[in-house]
Amino acid sequence: MSNVESSSSAAQQPPTSTLPMLGDNQVMQASTSASSTSNSNSNSTSSGNGGGGGNNVVGVPLDTQISGEPPSKKPCLDANAASSSSGGALSCAAAASGTHEKLAYRISTALCCAVCLDLPKTAMYQCQMGHLMCAACFTHLLADGRLRDQIATCPNCRVEISKSTASRNLAVEKAASELPSECQFCNKEFPYKSLERHEQHECQERPTKCKYHRIGCQWRGPYHETTEHERNCSHPKKSGYEVMAALEAHDLKIKEEKKMFNTLIDLLSYEKIIFNDLQMKPYRTDEYVHKLFYETARFSAFNQQWVVKARINNSQRDPHQTNERTITYQLILKTKTSTPMSIHFFALKGPFSDMKVSTQIYKHEFTETNTESDYYVLPLPDGIGGSGSSECNRMLANKGINFRLLMFLLNK
Ligand SMILES: [Zn+2]
Ligand SMILES: [Zn+2]
Ligand SMILES: [Zn+2]
Ligand SMILES: [Zn+2]
Repeated sequence: MSNVESSSSAAQQPPTSTLPMLGDNQVMQASTSASSTSNSNSNSTSSGNGGGGGNNVVGVPLDTQISGEPPSKKPCLDANAASSSSGGALSCAAAASGTHEKLAYRISTALCCAVCLDLPKTAMYQCQMGHLMCAACFTHLLADGRLRDQIATCPNCRVEISKSTASRNLAVEKAASELPSECQFCNKEFPYKSLERHEQHECQERPTKCKYHRIGCQWRGPYHETTEHERNCSHPKKSGYEVMAALEAHDLKIKEEKKMFNTLIDLLSYEKIIFNDLQMKPYRTDEYVHKLFYETARFSAFNQQWVVKARINNSQRDPHQTNERTITYQLILKTKTSTPMSIHFFALKGPFSDMKVSTQIYKHEFTETNTESDYYVLPLPDGIGGSGSSECNRMLANKGINFRLLMFLLNK
């Protein structure tokens, strides 16, 4: 939690006059309608449909490069390479939690984004003077400039930045992918680039289901206990009648998934579809007991302005007293609408995030008087305890939460 709090302290913000206006949020209009999605890879096309800041089309192929990393060769870092960790996410502040300034910490401090001070595992850009910016902050600065009709500048040196003047810094990206991150299951450290493979396929502590889970076995335990359990599992000896119940539950799940898929296909044929790549920043309420919440800057969609707000454990009084963590979010219409707007929306990870979020589509009817949707769960994958807690904590350890918001407007 301390990482999150520290990010809101002014001392950590770089000297800049560009950021406060948007509240450090990224506003990037990625595509304005279904008919223009085919353009989404062009670099920046103004669609010119106004709406307080304009729906600029910034189809950003920024994500395409990250996949070009070489496969990992080193299985594990030397134990004394670093002791910093934040459950997989390695931010500069998180690295500082180690008592000694180890080499990995000093390196991550040197390599981190000059705007958000994080070292996210996305593309890294640099201005002509060499100041580093992560892909999320870079696109935020560009979108910020565009919304205000000004030239985007480097927050450090004020030199102009654009897609053509700034360049990627592959060395920084490669160095960052070698920095150690901690496995969430066994707590050993691995280079970030091989962490996912380790957690999914190699870790002896990773949570695993019994191979008879399809016929009803609820057992879930660390991988190294699976063989022993399966040898003694009672489920293979159950009767067909007993197995039926499990199969029905299984069918129901498949049916739900199919329904979701069909809904998505339906939505994709709507006339009006917009996605925005957004960045939520942490804030504290000014109540007697400060509560943490997240908010994006305003962004435009369908000629209206919107923000997304999120909170932890639905603003429960002491979220740090429980291990269960959930993030819920709401969509808020900030401008007046005379006609009701029926909006479907959902969050996905987008190009600047490594959040593992599953798909859950929500719907709200925005009217002149009803401008805020309910708070809906941001569905994060199951951790060890069966909730999204570990992924949620990983998100909280970062300086901001980057995600893509897809919105569909039903024409009536
Ligand atoms: Zn950044
Ligand atoms: Zn600069
Ligand atoms: Zn592990
Ligand atoms: Zn079993």
